[in-house]
Amino acid sequence: MTRIAVIEKEKCNPKACGDYLCIRICPINRTGEECIVKGEDSKAKINTELCTGCGICPKRCPYSAIHIVNLPEALDQEPIHRYGKNGFHLYSLPTPMFGKVVGVLGVNGIGKSTAIKILAGILKPNLGREKESEFSELVQYFKGSEAQLFFEKVRDGKIRIGYKPQMIELIPKSFKGKVIDLLRKVDEKNKLDEIVDMLDLKDFLDTDISKVSGGELQRVAIAATVLKDANLYIFDEPTSYLDIKQRIKVSKFIRNLADENTAVIAVEHDLIILDYMADLVNIMYGEKGAYGIVSLPKPTKAGINVFLEGYLKEDNIRFRDAQIKFTPRMPTKEVEKPLLISWSMIKKKLGDFELHAEEGKLRKRDVCGILGENGIGKTTFAKIMAGVLDKDSGMMDNIIRVSYKPQYLESSSDELVASFLHNAITKFEVQLVRPLNLKDLFEKKLNELSGGELQKVAIAHCLSQDADLYLLDEPSAYLDVEQRLLVSKIMRDMMEQGHKSCLVVDHDLLFIDYLSDEIIVFDGKPARHGSVHGPFSMAGGMNRFLEGLNITMRRDAESHRPRINKPESQMDRKQKSEGKLYYS
Ligand code: SF4
Ligand code: SF4
Repeated sequence: MTRIAVIEKEKCNPKACGDYLCIRICPINRTGEECIVKGEDSKAKINTELCTGCGICPKRCPYSAIHIVNLPEALDQEPIHRYGKNGFHLYSLPTPMFGKVVGVLGVNGIGKSTAIKILAGILKPNLGREKESEFSELVQYFKGSEAQLFFEKVRDGKIRIGYKPQMIELIPKSFKGKVIDLLRKVDEKNKLDEIVDMLDLKDFLDTDISKVSGGELQRVAIAATVLKDANLYIFDEPTSYLDIKQRIKVSKFIRNLADENTAVIAVEHDLIILDYMADLVNIMYGEKGAYGIVSLPKPTKAGINVFLEGYLKEDNIRFRDAQIKFTPRMPTKEVEKPLLISWSMIKKKLGDFELHAEEGKLRKRDVCGILGENGIGKTTFAKIMAGVLDKDSGMMDNIIRVSYKPQYLESSSDELVASFLHNAITKFEVQLVRPLNLKDLFEKKLNELSGGELQKVAIAHCLSQDADLYLLDEPSAYLDVEQRLLVSKIMRDMMEQGHKSCLVVDHDLLFIDYLSDEIIVFDGKPARHGSVHGPFSMAGGMNRFLEGLNITMRRDAESHRPRINKPESQMDRKQKSEGKLYYS
């Protein structure tokens, strides 16, 4: 059995743990040998030849920085890449296939971006050694698999790559100028006009790249990628910041890129969109921060169900203790819930934009999802409810305390997480701190957190405030599938137990489906006017919302997760003719 030892260096804090606690407690060190030593970078370093795998140091390290892992027997091979001696190990890679969109599905910290960067040629793998490998060695490493053919083509200069990185926020830092200038610069195919049309970029072509919104920047990044004359297109999280309408449009666009001469790979956390976009999926599993393994490709529907189940039958590997379950929604019993707040005829004008909210009410213990396009006033409405923004006219019948998590998170503060989360730590250890694994972040400053870490901290902060209503704007951003579903459960439980209410603006329909009792729908024209309708029942709200998108949804027979029907399929036509666009 192969054993690996990994130290997450950013977590290792020898001064704070009591001067190399692990060195002092390791039974091998206590016999006088040097199993754990002080590394050149002052962090702990483990000699795997001496380590017996007793499991003491991972349990005792107060920062969960150590992983000692016995790898599955089938994995008797060197990693494709290793970040230093005690660093993260990646085994195998997703497989690009001509004519197909291959999706990559896995939790954060499992090596998805590393794998993608290797395929994109940005990171040269080292096969677990100290130096980069030659292509001939990679061909040898993958002998007998699809990946061998791929690396042969790379070696022979037959693969040209277009790559959209995950962190689109960095684009304005490396390029200054207007959107059109950036796109002209990269247009190797001479297809600028066509792509601008397909991705709806016309309205902001002359805008400076530093001024466009997140959703616009994402579409610019996708356009810049496909304007490259490539035969392998790689998209790392192509739908972050996009609303549902844009997600569907972009998924169709990405699907259509794959042909006999073009392969596409996409990492995506929105399962409904991944299902819609990909032909096959590679599941990535392992241990966060320690190692990652890529499964063989599976047809998308089966692959997503295997991921939710957490069990790879052919390898007999359980990679998650519990199955993620979706239960078909039963017609909700009309339980009398006390009224929290009601509103009528609210109006707000902001520059050229006008918001109008008819009549609505929220009751205690309601968890209400908010759906609508970008730029249609969802955040404005949330801010009015939160009292952060004044309304011009209209009525709200109650004064309630509101705790608000904004869409874009500020991370410039150097306050420690432990101090920022004081309320959560003192009052919600069981409900928030433990399930969200926040303890490991306590010693970090807010401005040192990754997108996903900052999102978890912001959610915990919002939910730990003393309030009547919790408004969370896009809490799924930067979270992986498991974290999204965990956050939904936490919110539902806290609202039920505390007799509080929650409004959640989000674009991930699976997340909204998992979370909500009711739905508020926004319609109108982005940047011009928006109207607020509801709350409706789930079926009523989703029906109204899906009508605007011209799609229908059903539940998967096996996993009960929501899926989009193929346009014009039998189910699609049946559901449309019955006026039931959303499964019940
Ligand atoms: Fe201390 Fe943990 Fe680092 Fe060892 S790995 S030095 S116990 S923080
Ligand atoms: Fe020492 Fe290995 Fe045991 Fe850790 S797991 S205490 S390194 S023998």
